[in-house]
Amino acid sequence: MLARRTHLFTNSGTARARAAAKAAAEAGRDVVDLTTGEIWSPLPPAVRDGAIAAIERGINRYTDTLGLAELRAALAHKLHVETQQAWRPDEIAVTSGAKQALFNAAMILIDPGDEVVIPSPYWTTFPAQVLIAGGTPVFVETRHRAFIPSIDDIERSLTSRTRALVVNTPNNPTGAVYPGELLAQIAELAIARDFWIIFDECYSSFVYESHVHHPIVSLVPEVRSRTLVVNAFSKALALTGWRIGYLAGSKEAIDAVRALQSHTTSNPNVIAQHAVLEHLRRNDASFESGLRSDLAAARRIGLEKLKRIPGIPTPRADGGFYFYLDVTSLLRTDGADPAPTIDDIVGRLVTEAGVAGVAGSAFGDPGGLRISYGGPRESFELGLDRLISAFETWDAAADLVM
Ligand code: PLP
Repeated sequence: MLARRTHLFTNSGTARARAAAKAAAEAGRDVVDLTTGEIWSPLPPAVRDGAIAAIERGINRYTDTLGLAELRAALAHKLHVETQQAWRPDEIAVTSGAKQALFNAAMILIDPGDEVVIPSPYWTTFPAQVLIAGGTPVFVETRHRAFIPSIDDIERSLTSRTRALVVNTPNNPTGAVYPGELLAQIAELAIARDFWIIFDECYSSFVYESHVHHPIVSLVPEVRSRTLVVNAFSKALALTGWRIGYLAGSKEAIDAVRALQSHTTSNPNVIAQHAVLEHLRRNDASFESGLRSDLAAARRIGLEKLKRIPGIPTPRADGGFYFYLDVTSLLRTDGADPAPTIDDIVGRLVTEAGVAGVAGSAFGDPGGLRISYGGPRESFELGLDRLISAFETWDAAADLVM
């Protein structure tokens, strides 16, 4: 018998989708995997050099629980540039990816019974971590507003137990980038109604066309004392496997993270810390801008193709590297019983069309399908073509009855 806590969470929906695509491929099916939450790219040269140099210097020991002092100083500088505010190293914790930063945030903020407001569709780990911490996720639907929550809807979701609001912009899975005016309103609301903001900006490097990413603390500096900023190099440098992220907030919050992390993982991998430090020291943005232009090109190609699908609106894709398709028109049942679900559609795409995406059900949304354009360009285009021809040929009403 395991702890009751184990009933609060299952393996993450995105991890399950990835595993299903892999299993189908291993069973000999020709499946293009568009579930990926990472960017296919060679290593940034500075990261490679920094890691090799650290190994050659024989680096092998623990660092400070919250990371190398030089790395925390470099991150303070990065945040200064991004937020136009001064940051001290003791306001920053280096973590094993953004996921640990978010977990730390949940553990230091949430008491049993506290509510945490999460705009939905949401990245699958947000509510899971709230539940693990003993809190209750409260969802604010955004689909009817093109995935940008209204301040009124957020305000209506608040109760005396509201402890925090998760703001994820650019958003996974929806691709929405929250406008500055909304972020400023959210900050004012947090101050007026006394709640925290967990500000996940993991995709901040990737915004397109006229969209701009606004760090919330740069819009309303007074909100900083109640904000925890979460970021990582996983997406920005295509370094998902290296597990370097960070959490920035008040010294009091970061001191609590130090104590927590000292009993969980201690410091993140030391070689990876040196590698990222070398990248930050060189201060050469050409790798990031290369990634950005590659993704922008994939996005352009994808949007052109997606325009062809009848009945499915072109996704907004303002930021990040996902297309979040509204497939509600495919869920029309015309009386069919049982009604086809998004999971049925995703299953059929794998078995009949040879393409895998992530069902919106992983994000609390029965009407969406997430496909990634972070993978290799050729397979992305092939996968997208397969998806489009499947959607074009399926007779939605009759054919989808399982
Ligand atoms: N936050 C969001 C919104 C994400 O989409 C992800 C990964 O997909 C993470 C955090 C976790 O990132 P990391 O791999 O750095 O733990």
